[in-house]
Amino acid sequence: MIDTHCHLDGEEFKDDLDAVVARAKEAGVTAIGVPGIDLKSCDSVMALCQRYPDYCYPMLGLHPEEVKADWQEVLAQIKPHLLEGVAIGEVGLDFYWSREFEQEQLLAFEEQVKWSVELQLPLMIHCRKAQNEMVSILKRYKDDLPGGVFHCFTGNALEAQELLQFDRFVLGIGGVLTFKKSHLPEVLPAVVPLDRIVLETDAPYMAPVPMRGQRNEPAFVAYVLRRLAEAYGVSEEVVERVTDANVARVFGVK
Ligand SMILES: [Zn+2]
Repeated sequence: MIDTHCHLDGEEFKDDLDAVVARAKEAGVTAIGVPGIDLKSCDSVMALCQRYPDYCYPMLGLHPEEVKADWQEVLAQIKPHLLEGVAIGEVGLDFYWSREFEQEQLLAFEEQVKWSVELQLPLMIHCRKAQNEMVSILKRYKDDLPGGVFHCFTGNALEAQELLQFDRFVLGIGGVLTFKKSHLPEVLPAVVPLDRIVLETDAPYMAPVPMRGQRNEPAFVAYVLRRLAEAYGVSEEVVERVTDANVARVFGVK
């Protein structure tokens, strides 16, 4: 199984990184996607992925919460690094915490969507309280986009269907699926075919039940896989096989 979204370059892992990676391998995790969030993380993500070659895969981009007044200069400095990664990310819109840089976020996201088209690199998209705005930007490039992931999907059936109109995109499903009050175990099997889902942890955040409240780590993606198998009424082997194939299709990672 593959953890498509894990901030393994974070401070939270600096003391026991080898042990975290060993536990991931032990749990059956065969690859980990590591997204950047800003210019500094171009270095930290690349260094991390060079330490675990053919296991950790870099994605580079400017996270919406990191978009400030200087976004144009930052993007100009990130762009030369893009082809070192397997995707552009994480990018998107986040109006949950703040709308201070709303216009800048919209412009920075659209610029990175254009890069995705230009370089034919998939997108790792973060979207919070901004689906309408995100969809209207993506629609402008719909036919030319190579694909990507709507990371940390937690929406309802209508929102899922709206995202699935983007053919080559999949939904990233993580720990929220396992939370007691989550509606995802009903929503997903009703409207999302298994071949449109990839697994993720978003570690160190969003630890799944029964690890909720702890630091999340890539090995815990196994709990997400198990809950997904229950929700779809299929074996864990089937979920693993299909979601691995989805990752290979979207990212070219096996
Ligand atoms: Zn993330």
